[in-house]
Amino acid sequence: MTTEKYISKRVAGVPPSGIRKFFDIASEMKDAISLGVGEPDFVTPWNIRESAIFSMERGHTHYTSNHGQLSLRKLISLYLETRFSTGYNPESEVLVTVGASEALDLAFRAIMEPGDEVLVPAPSYVSYMPGVTFAGGTPVAIETKEEDDFTITVAAIEAAVTPKTKAIVIPYPNNPTGAIMTAEQLSGIADVIVKHDLLVISDEIYAELTYGGLKHVSIASFEKIYPRCIVINGFSKAFAMTGFRLGYAAGPKPLIAAMVKIHQYSMLCASVMSQYAGEEAIKHEMETGFAQVEKMRRSYDQRRRFMLKALADIGLTAFEPRGAFYIFPNITGTGLTSEEFCFRLIDDKKVACVPGTAFGEAGEGFMRCSYASSMDNLKEAVKRIGAFLKAL
Ligand code: PLP
Repeated sequence: MTTEKYISKRVAGVPPSGIRKFFDIASEMKDAISLGVGEPDFVTPWNIRESAIFSMERGHTHYTSNHGQLSLRKLISLYLETRFSTGYNPESEVLVTVGASEALDLAFRAIMEPGDEVLVPAPSYVSYMPGVTFAGGTPVAIETKEEDDFTITVAAIEAAVTPKTKAIVIPYPNNPTGAIMTAEQLSGIADVIVKHDLLVISDEIYAELTYGGLKHVSIASFEKIYPRCIVINGFSKAFAMTGFRLGYAAGPKPLIAAMVKIHQYSMLCASVMSQYAGEEAIKHEMETGFAQVEKMRRSYDQRRRFMLKALADIGLTAFEPRGAFYIFPNITGTGLTSEEFCFRLIDDKKVACVPGTAFGEAGEGFMRCSYASSMDNLKEAVKRIGAFLKAL
């Protein structure tokens, strides 16, 4: 008996993530170096782990409010206000979720009618397009280009908007390009967003990780965007808490209420131990002037600068990433496609990177290297990539 026939066409039509494929190959190979997966190489700071342990010791093992614990929501609201000048009511405008991933999924599901279109800048994080599709909508890629520093332009939005366009994803700091958008650039696209009456879903999970003296600007901090914006964020990247699966959404009350409705019937609440850990993460960082986050950020920055120079030295030019922990070198000079390059690189030199096309067709000609890996690994990886390029 075949069970394929039971699978929804919508699900069957979406390919599996192109990131995992290379990571899985690398994990089975001896002496392979993976620059493939996007997560901090730091273990979660001890005070945060300890608070999760304490919560269990004290018997905090029950469901919480569907919205998440109010004490955590208050801290999230305060954190967002302090860092990014937004002001959300913790009672009704903040929802704690199972990672930013769930927050994204809820946002798409809460707004989508069949046929609705969502503008998704590309290349960008692998989940947006499938997320829109699973929710019954139609993702429409808007290409961001290296010559525009991988930012979204007014022209790109204007060219893609149709009467069916309902929302736009704003994915900065960007995975995989490392691009950010300045206040001026965001202000430029804010007008066209309002003109076309679009909802904004702003994924700001890398907000704490920016470099070169540039600070993240939340598009929600623009008065004209605030009432039409859902901010997505989480603890995975800034606090090295990927395994805790803790994230959140902040936005206008009716939209958060709609998202809570789906969340309460599907997830109920995020893990209570993770919620206690999240409280400690924000409280401690706010009390210490973000000392631990800053230490990790500096370490990424050191590795970012190393990669930029080391790749240039072996003849691979890359856009200077200003956020997140990825570098996105241009490999068009090799004459290989992104997939060919990455498959041959892992086969010949046992270095796993992700083809740019895993992040949309617009990623053709690039590959993503995560520099959230030890300096020794990075040095060895670049050496091997250099030898690979020479042999081509
Ligand atoms: N958004 C972006 C841009 C990401 O890169 C990731 C993870 O890599 C996520 C969201 C998902 O984060 P979380 O671990 O909070 O689900």
